Amino acid sequence: MKFGTKVIHAGIEPDPSTGAIMTPIFQTSTYVQDSPGVHKGYEYARTQNPTRITLENNLAALENGTHGICFSSGMAAVDAVLKLLKSGDEVISTNDLYGGTYRLITKVFGNFGVKGHFVPMTDIEKIEAKINENTKLIWIETPTNPMLNIVDIKAVCELAKKHNILTCVDNTFASPYLQTPLDLGADLVLHSATKYLGGHSDVVHGAVVTKNKDLADRLYFIQNSAGAVPGPQDCFLVLRGIKTLHIRVQRACENARVIAAFLKAHPKVSKVFYPGFEDHPGHELAKTQMRDFGAMVSFTLHEDTLEAGSKVMSNTHLFSLAESLGGVESLIGHPPTMTHASIPREERLAVGMTDSLIRLSVGIEDADDLIADLKAAFEHL
Ligand SMILES: *Cc1c(COP(=O)(O)O)cnc(C)c1O
Repeated sequence: MKFGTKVIHAGIEPDPSTGAIMTPIFQTSTYVQDSPGVHKGYEYARTQNPTRITLENNLAALENGTHGICFSSGMAAVDAVLKLLKSGDEVISTNDLYGGTYRLITKVFGNFGVKGHFVPMTDIEKIEAKINENTKLIWIETPTNPMLNIVDIKAVCELAKKHNILTCVDNTFASPYLQTPLDLGADLVLHSATKYLGGHSDVVHGAVVTKNKDLADRLYFIQNSAGAVPGPQDCFLVLRGIKTLHIRVQRACENARVIAAFLKAHPKVSKVFYPGFEDHPGHELAKTQMRDFGAMVSFTLHEDTLEAGSKVMSNTHLFSLAESLGGVESLIGHPPTMTHASIPREERLAVGMTDSLIRLSVGIEDADDLIADLKAAFEHL
């Protein structure tokens, strides 16, 4: 089955009791048993829910895995993966990691004796230098946020395998339409389904997919034991969002390509970060591991100040000033004062995140209108 068919059909059957073509929202906490221990496979809704299981099977198919495990948010999914570790274990990840994941590793799991190392993951030697006998997990994110660096998934997974280390790829920015890390050797792939999978900015949800039965069993155990399960209505919304994933991401990528070119040619813009450009350091790599270059674009202004960045963002009308990404509507954000405000300025500058850096999550509106919106906002500089 190809991707556009999978999003609509994989793991999804009409409801056997009624024939309803859409997976019903099974809003129930428990299931009636015929006699003690004799039931239809469902006992209690933290453990099993048919709406959730349908979504888990669909997600497994989209990521070319065998098992999907859903959570109440992307962070709950990250939390479950980190719970595969024990005190004394070490994690290596990227130095421009999603802030919430960085916080969870350092401020929460740090208290339980798990140690994190954060290195520029575009340099494989920097990863290798941090590996020791306690290294149990390598956490990959690509493309990265907000600098849009590309990490070589296959090379990092090969290195990890050599040392018997688990790998998990946060695939939120790419979506399975653009990138399927399990095919490149990753053990686990993770999503904040809040973003492209849900796609309509109306749900918070997370998921992990694997094709390793042992890892899946351990994650189902954690899912049921810790209980960070999504509600059935949220699972329904993600299932519905996924049905148009391929069309949405394709259009968003087309828009991003045109907008990145417009920005590059604009006299007030100094630098554009977009892996689709031939001179982007990760361009060739992106061509090998992604099916398009994604719909996230970051850029800086010649007037490289916090004020200039904020002036642009306060003057767009179609691009809404908000955190998050991956919805049908375009968003604009200013990492130095929003998502990355807690990072010291020197550290920010060291990774190229200068004061005027603006990040776009390009939506699926008409590109001409989006460009006109940016053009008008630049007039205020
Ligand atoms: C949003 C996001 C998360 C966290 O997901 P939530 O659904 O907000 O909990 C994790 N990783 C990445 C890359 C994200 O963008």
